[in-house]
Amino acid sequence: MPEFCDVALPVPLDMVFTYRVPADAAPIVGGRVLVPFRQQRMTGIVMELHDRKPAVTAKNIVSVLDPEPVLNELLLRLARWISDYYFAPLGEVCRTMLPLMAEFKRTIGYRITEHGQSALHLAGMSGSTARSQRTPEEQMLEFQVLDYMTGADGDLVREQTLRSATKVPRRILDGMIRKKWLSREDISAPQDAKRTIKVALLKSVEGKLNDNQRTLVEALAASGSKLPVDALQALEVPRTTLGTLVRRDLVEVIEEAAEFTVSRAKARPSPFDFDFTDAQNHALQRMREAVETRKFSGMLLHGVTGSGKTAVYLAVMRAVLDAGRSAILLVPEIGLTPAVAADLHQIFGDEVAILHSALSDRERAEQWHRIKRRDARIVVGTRSAVFAPVDDLALLIVDEEHDSSYKQEETPRYHARDIAVMRAKMSDAVVVLGSATPSLESYFNAKKNKYALIEIPDRVEKRPLPEVEIVDMRMEFQETGHEQVISRKLSEEIAARLERRAQVMVLLNRRGYSPVVLCRTCGKKLECSNCAIALTHHKREHKMVCHYCGYTAPVPKACVHCGSEYVYFLGTGSEKLEELLHGMFPQARIARLDRDTVRGHQDFERTLSALNEGELDLLVGTQMIAKGHDIHGVTLVGVVGADVALGLPDFRAAERTFQLLTQVAGRAGRGQTPGKVILQTYFQDHYAVQYAAQHDFIGFYEKELQFRSWMHYPPYSALANVLVRGDQLDEVLEWSGLLGKWFNQTRHETVRVLGPAAAPIMRLKRDYRYHFILRSPSREKLNTTLRAMLAYAAQQKIPRTQVIVDMDALWLM
Ligand SMILES: [Zn+2]
Ligand SMILES: [Zn+2]
Repeated sequence: MPEFCDVALPVPLDMVFTYRVPADAAPIVGGRVLVPFRQQRMTGIVMELHDRKPAVTAKNIVSVLDPEPVLNELLLRLARWISDYYFAPLGEVCRTMLPLMAEFKRTIGYRITEHGQSALHLAGMSGSTARSQRTPEEQMLEFQVLDYMTGADGDLVREQTLRSATKVPRRILDGMIRKKWLSREDISAPQDAKRTIKVALLKSVEGKLNDNQRTLVEALAASGSKLPVDALQALEVPRTTLGTLVRRDLVEVIEEAAEFTVSRAKARPSPFDFDFTDAQNHALQRMREAVETRKFSGMLLHGVTGSGKTAVYLAVMRAVLDAGRSAILLVPEIGLTPAVAADLHQIFGDEVAILHSALSDRERAEQWHRIKRRDARIVVGTRSAVFAPVDDLALLIVDEEHDSSYKQEETPRYHARDIAVMRAKMSDAVVVLGSATPSLESYFNAKKNKYALIEIPDRVEKRPLPEVEIVDMRMEFQETGHEQVISRKLSEEIAARLERRAQVMVLLNRRGYSPVVLCRTCGKKLECSNCAIALTHHKREHKMVCHYCGYTAPVPKACVHCGSEYVYFLGTGSEKLEELLHGMFPQARIARLDRDTVRGHQDFERTLSALNEGELDLLVGTQMIAKGHDIHGVTLVGVVGADVALGLPDFRAAERTFQLLTQVAGRAGRGQTPGKVILQTYFQDHYAVQYAAQHDFIGFYEKELQFRSWMHYPPYSALANVLVRGDQLDEVLEWSGLLGKWFNQTRHETVRVLGPAAAPIMRLKRDYRYHFILRSPSREKLNTTLRAMLAYAAQQKIPRTQVIVDMDALWLM
């Protein structure tokens, strides 16, 4: 056994740490070990075993946690690539890839130090010290803790024991650690991850059933023959009914590892119920052939909204499973509802693992083990599912590949779509990126033959795309003489639909009641105290809310700056729009979908199914409504102020607006009746608006690409946003000044540096923010420059957590 091992630890430092391997331990590369780190113990991943003696004395590892690797060779390679590409510490990358933290219950222990011993001794002699800033109560508590700890005779005392004995708050303990009177250790130990629940399985439906029995049997049948017993008990039938069914051998109750509970919603028609169109069949064929070659290839599936891309994905995944291999399907955050899960269980049975954001850490770990054991070879999930430990990966699909929820906005700042492409390359697998509105980058790659381009130009059953009518809101203002939220045209069309009992959706991509509170006397806005952002008025909750940090304040009666009573609430959010529509159409049944009304997937699904069942006439909402599933009754979509983003200083604003407009327009007319879209805009001549109205992706793409090429923006160059942040403005100014000077003094061929400049959102969550934007046609050169910059920042003692490199940044705000 080699003498040393290099361990990646989840700390913000760009390095691995070397430990000595004790004689009786046998760590393995890719497995977890428990090691001492500073005052605590930490779990890390073994990256390498070797005999190179480090310059400083290496500590011993405490224990080996895994008999076999949790990250295989391929995933370790991927981790290294991510760490290098996104400038993220390797240990933090590994932690993101492994949802196994729940297996370790954190236990903290304390030990008294020599300092502590002498402090106790001194306190006993002289009482309190005069210089102390602590209250007598605090000093008394410290004294009690030290006294208790001496009783332990230098042994470790668990935090729980110590706190229940002395009633000391954590704050005091932290202070004593700072004074080096106590030392703190993490004595966490692995726990058994298994947890089981009782599950009812439907075995047969033969024989006569009474009403109660039928209710249970139908509920089971509707969710793929399987439901947790708890879920059945929520149905209103006597508890004995299940017992009777078990005795009759119609149902069996088994113990199973707890997993994602299958939806109790009504079964939806199977996605295979309709015939594939020629274009769908062609797409399926191309994917199956590519998978069979067992070589890397990338495909971009560009299918208009409503063209049945999901059915194609499911069919090719089924083929992969039948061949005994594995597939991963990534879906955007909001796309994974219990109804979708029920569909997946229907098609893949027990062989699918579903990783959604509502899972607890423990559930996530359980799913991870199922995949690792090869119990589940099909994985469907949001962003981090791209790291699922499947074996023999044949296919990776990224649905709605343009969706911004694939980008993680904290360290490691990775983009799951780009990781999917890299993982497919490393695994000789096929990657399919699908969208009705592909990102510029992906379409550009397809045009340059990096990906095969597969088009599905028509909707299923040849349903037409909706007609889009643009309403110029500047004209509306001139003609009516005042600012309108709902134009006359939209109002007429809504009335006509309600008359015919057809359904309507109205999109306003801004939540709350009023987005701005302005003082007419001094002209100042009411801003968040942590961010340079206007607070939004939420009428029903009767408060002002910051949408960036969650800060809340009371609704002002007078200006907080000058005391004037002339404060005005300006603008319209989705809450106010709902109220307005109630006023205009008092008979209509109206619901709203936004982050204020939707707390979880259930709320989202409940509202959508109410719409599907015809219990609603009008649905108002933010971009969330653009991402719903097939809703057949909606024949009119109104778009109110979806073009606000066009006014933002962000080079992706046009692309984002085009995507949002196209996606929301795609909600109209999915049933038999053709749909219509009324698009209200103040930017009626903007190409993003015009091309979206004409459903012309190619036109938009060509125009936008021209602009990106002139401005040297992606996909014509690699771009990184370097953010310098901190809660002290002078520190941030000093650091960004230092880095700015360094960029000027060092030459970086082909790399353009903009900045330092105040970020568009200059203060966020109490941090002041300055940034640089770096662009280069050469990724390699950009990477080298950034690496040298980080080294210089470390040399200047700028904390690593305060200089953030966001490679391929989606937001420059
Ligand atoms: Zn004022
Ligand atoms: Zn804020």
